[in-house]
Amino acid sequence: MRRITVLGATGSIGQNTLDVVSRHPDDFQVFALTAHSQVNAMAQLCLKHNPQYAVMGSQSAAAELKELVGQRISTQVIYGEQALAEVSSASEVNVVMAAIVGAAGLAPTLAAINAGKDVLLANKEALVMSGQLFIDHAQRSGAKIIPVDSEHNAIFQCLPQAAQQQVGTMALSEHGIQYLLLTGSGGPFRDLPINQLVEQTPNAACKHPNWSMGRKISVDSATMLNKGLEYIEARWLFNCSRDQLKVVIHPQSVIHSMVQYTDGSVLAQMGEPDMRTPIAHTLGYPERLDSGVAGLDFTQIAPLTFKQPEAPRYPCLQLAIDACWEGQWATTSLNAANEVAVAAFLKEQVGFTDIAKVCDSVLQSIQANEADSIETLIAIDKQARLTASKWLQEYAK
Ligand code: NAD
Ligand code: MG
Repeated sequence: MRRITVLGATGSIGQNTLDVVSRHPDDFQVFALTAHSQVNAMAQLCLKHNPQYAVMGSQSAAAELKELVGQRISTQVIYGEQALAEVSSASEVNVVMAAIVGAAGLAPTLAAINAGKDVLLANKEALVMSGQLFIDHAQRSGAKIIPVDSEHNAIFQCLPQAAQQQVGTMALSEHGIQYLLLTGSGGPFRDLPINQLVEQTPNAACKHPNWSMGRKISVDSATMLNKGLEYIEARWLFNCSRDQLKVVIHPQSVIHSMVQYTDGSVLAQMGEPDMRTPIAHTLGYPERLDSGVAGLDFTQIAPLTFKQPEAPRYPCLQLAIDACWEGQWATTSLNAANEVAVAAFLKEQVGFTDIAKVCDSVLQSIQANEADSIETLIAIDKQARLTASKWLQEYAK
């Protein structure tokens, strides 16, 4: 029996995780669930999974949750950042699903890493904003990082076992690997005339053709900054150099990513575009668990096609690739600028094509900086958010 904390339980990844967990009542016990403000969804999850702790983002949300679940279950309702760190590092916990969206996930995910837990990493922003530090902390504590993001999970599955034991430190060439190929669907605007991008609404951006996800990552998929963040995520998880990492558009999302070996072999992981597959893989690793996902019917899937991402359609992707090799300050800044820009876009305060403009402008204005401690990273993140907010204020005038 493994005890699990699910950070971001009410989100798309959180709910899918609990779906898989509930299929294996003899293998998993839910220790803690966390959510920011969605009290009703959290109440339902608590009633179903009866965790020892439920963590909310604020005192008022915690009070509302207590009111809703009342005496019916024994769950202790707590709130705030300290509580998040506690349920991530508690000695009772074996596994932490890190599925908070954005930079807010960094501190609790690091708490789990520092406590040496098995960390199932969905929260890519945490790794993007802390890179080498994140990997160093895991090295020091012995925490195991298993990637949940479908592309990284696919690559992980296609790696030799020895490399799977060296997340963050492996030498790809020593395992006979030439490069990793990240696939991406190209998002909902893949085939739209480029001059129509400017008028796209949040709802249009969130209508992903293949995957059902939270709103922030859906917008990131439409700009392909998601692939950019994933590029940076892959760089750290698989310790890649620039020529060991490539991106290709694969509209059908049947192949979830690939590994090119030096002998010419390519290993790909395939499946339905359903996050329960990679989630079940991380929960069961190295064993396989039933995820509730049906097998692929190769006679029914569309022909598999591939193409290069077009630079004018996806300026955010290039920004991210450049930032990746520029330095930690650049990726931390880009992530922060993007979070501010996407939030403003979702509130219809800026247009879709402004997201890239905000990110570019922030990257141009932030000074290159040593990012050698969590404190400096948080300061860079804050500075980038301020710069992005100023851009938005100017824009609103
Ligand atoms: P979501 O928006 O559906 O859910 C986010 C969760 O985080 C919710 O439980 C919410 O309560 C919590 N949260 C939000 N802000 C918070 C804050 N300030 N403090 C504490 N908790 C907060 O997001 P999602 O789509 O489930 O994505 C979660 C993470 O997984 C993201 O980093 C995303 O990039 C990554 N991811 C998601 C998918 C997917 O299919 N949804 C795939 C790959 C990776
Ligand atoms: Mg992904």
